[in-house]
Amino acid sequence: MNYIILDLEATCWKDRSIQKQNEIIEIGAVKINDKGEPQDEFCEFIKPKLNPVLSDFCKELTTITQEEIDIADPYENVIERFKNWIDVEEPYVLCSWGFYDKKQFQKDCELHNLSIDWLENHISLKHQYAKIKNLRKPIGMGGALKKEKLTLEGTHHRGIDDARNIAKIFIANIEKWKIKNKNGNI
Ligand code: AMP
Ligand code: MG
Repeated sequence: MNYIILDLEATCWKDRSIQKQNEIIEIGAVKINDKGEPQDEFCEFIKPKLNPVLSDFCKELTTITQEEIDIADPYENVIERFKNWIDVEEPYVLCSWGFYDKKQFQKDCELHNLSIDWLENHISLKHQYAKIKNLRKPIGMGGALKKEKLTLEGTHHRGIDDARNIAKIFIANIEKWKIKNKNGNI
């Protein structure tokens, strides 16, 4: 079983009343084996289909530049490479900090008429972490890093850096996560 610790960045706007569809602009992921050893990383930018020009707010939040997005491939190409990298024929579980990332993948797959089957085996480390640590409610990645006495490395809101930091929390608690089996049961 491989654990795919992933974090997405997406188009966004300062004014929440702007009714535009968010699209993924970066996939960052770390592949970890059964023993809790990091094996490989995936980091790619994606050129959005609906709004390929990033807002100033989005560029500031993520530090992703317009130039990086201009030369990026569209979603369908990147997602094919990502699925190859995961190796979806072998057992794997997608792990993210909350359910946002799975929902955003579903939206983008629907926008591009692509299958969502490969997203089924997913867990929210954020929600499991709250249970493991007996917290009243789920906390952010930054708070969890502090609790673990781990440092936030890299740039927060860059997919690959967020994925690396989440991976550290994952490894620190490797024995405690509840992983679904093939039938989706924990
Ligand atoms: P994160 O993994 O926390 O960096 O967030 C993933 C995505 O959620 C970002 O790329 C944005 O599209 C959106 N997002 C995160 N924080 C904010 C915020 N404060 N305001 C608007 N959108 C946000
Ligand atoms: Mg992020």
